[in-house]
Amino acid sequence: MAEDVFSQRTVTCGALTKADNNKNVILNGWVHRDRNHGALHFINLRDRYGLTQVVVDDDASTELQDVAKELKLEYCIAVIGTVRLRPDSMVNPEMSTGEIEVKAEKIEILSKCPPLPFQIDDGKDTREDLRLKYRFLDLRSQGMQQRMKLRHDFIFACRKYLVEKDFYEIETPTLIKSTPEGARDFVVPSRIYPGKFYALPQSPQLFKQILMVGGFDKYFQIARCYRDEDSRGDRQLEFTQLDLEMSFVKRDDILTLMEGLFGQVFRDVMQYELPVHFRRLSYADALNTYGCDKPDLRFDLPLSDVNELSEKSSFATFKEIVGAGGFVKALCAPKTEGVEFSRKYITELEDAAKIYGAKGLAWIKVGADNALSGGVSKFFAGLESELVSKMDAKEGDLILFVAHENWKKCCASLSAVRTKLGKDLNLIRKGFEFCWIVDFPLFEYNETEGHWEAAHHMFSMPQSQYLDTLESDPGSVKGDLYDLVLNGYEVASGSIRIHDVELQKRIFRICNFDDETAEERFGFLLNAFRYGAPPHGGIAPGVDRMVMIMSEQTSIHEVIAFPKNTAAVSPMDDSPSTLDQIQLDDLHLIINYPKEKE
Ligand code: ASP
Repeated sequence: MAEDVFSQRTVTCGALTKADNNKNVILNGWVHRDRNHGALHFINLRDRYGLTQVVVDDDASTELQDVAKELKLEYCIAVIGTVRLRPDSMVNPEMSTGEIEVKAEKIEILSKCPPLPFQIDDGKDTREDLRLKYRFLDLRSQGMQQRMKLRHDFIFACRKYLVEKDFYEIETPTLIKSTPEGARDFVVPSRIYPGKFYALPQSPQLFKQILMVGGFDKYFQIARCYRDEDSRGDRQLEFTQLDLEMSFVKRDDILTLMEGLFGQVFRDVMQYELPVHFRRLSYADALNTYGCDKPDLRFDLPLSDVNELSEKSSFATFKEIVGAGGFVKALCAPKTEGVEFSRKYITELEDAAKIYGAKGLAWIKVGADNALSGGVSKFFAGLESELVSKMDAKEGDLILFVAHENWKKCCASLSAVRTKLGKDLNLIRKGFEFCWIVDFPLFEYNETEGHWEAAHHMFSMPQSQYLDTLESDPGSVKGDLYDLVLNGYEVASGSIRIHDVELQKRIFRICNFDDETAEERFGFLLNAFRYGAPPHGGIAPGVDRMVMIMSEQTSIHEVIAFPKNTAAVSPMDDSPSTLDQIQLDDLHLIINYPKEKE
């Protein structure tokens, strides 16, 4: 037999059932488990499709017995054999092939494998860097195999839905002009033009808008985006978006399209029925009620505004803050079996609040008949029933307060407490809770740089009632912006875009780009807008985040085949890496190492 010829599979490892009894088959796969029971040798053979039990009987030829003895975990082999029914006592209902086994007649070793750096399927206990270094082994685990399938199914279902709705899938370039879009750009030096650089797109934003000017009124793309920012659980340097854009649409057309898309995708991929419409919350309501613009609605625990009660109380700190135009907000942690609202636990909650700017976390315990005790209860003497009824509190509950001059900080601090309580008190329902956040502020003030900047990006349309006051009162302008939130994660954001040159320039100016700089950076977009630009809008759900949530993971690394680690390094291929001097010379680059590295 020539070396490159092997016995090619006639069936996969997940396919055989008792209907295949007596069939002659060839399987290809990896040795998943290998055990000897006296003279019997059992091999669990694995491929992407499942596991099949292979048996080398005690009456097997010496040649076959010898090969079987040589096998080690993760050897890649071919098994030629016959399907037979397992004895009743050995049927495994957990396995799709659990009713049968394959009696081996011949085994070919296709390739060997040294001792494993970690046990496949033991991912949980293995250091992430080791998993990433040997990602080819890690990818063989059941978890990774299932998640990569889910990712594939998700992307396929999105494509199918959009194509059926008349969308075209169009690619946009990945070597583009550096156009600030919020984060830092990754840049690629040009060999041909010394001193010039391409940038990798932070998203296809401007190109998809230009596609609208180009007449492709329904576009989408599974787009890779690059942002040079710090990695964390739900973010890394490169990520994938389902990028889409439509012409002649208003906000609700996009929201309805997305509800339909996710409805269909969840039905196809997860057999999970979503509501036809998702809940909508304005940015202000989301902050007031849940403390943040990406609330986890799998549990309630709303925040209440207790400014009025605080004014009536005798607590000087609260009174002062309210008097100075600040905010006091509270939430009621329900009495929960097995959780003691001890001082230690309240300190843990306080620590969570402090990360977001709270100076402290005030508390009161609720007893029988509206009796209040502990913490700041004495300052609410006489207001017991009003407070209890406002907070809808019951005996054994704990009321927690944050006071702050700054509304956002007050909300965010109490939101952190809400999130922690959600987990600790086991309040989180299973399932998927989507919601839209709308009516975002268009601008945010950049304290460090001392100017306004776009809260989302500079191409979003201000709501029409603010068109006259853009320059005079940027802080109050609301944009035609929307975010989609799922289980406490922002999974998509988008907006209706500006398609008018003059309005676009006004926004650039407010964001500190004078006409000359704007023309230099974004001239190509402005130029396109001069040629009959249609009204348009779009959105871009994050594929990694969606699949992460759908597979109940907390890190996008678990749903990306080859992610970078949290230090932005890929331990498998060792990127980033240095360049040879020849490459640097070609690119006209001299590296100016930071001092400590010299
Ligand atoms: N390009 C935007 C982003 O990546 C999404 C959009 O507005 O469509 O966040």
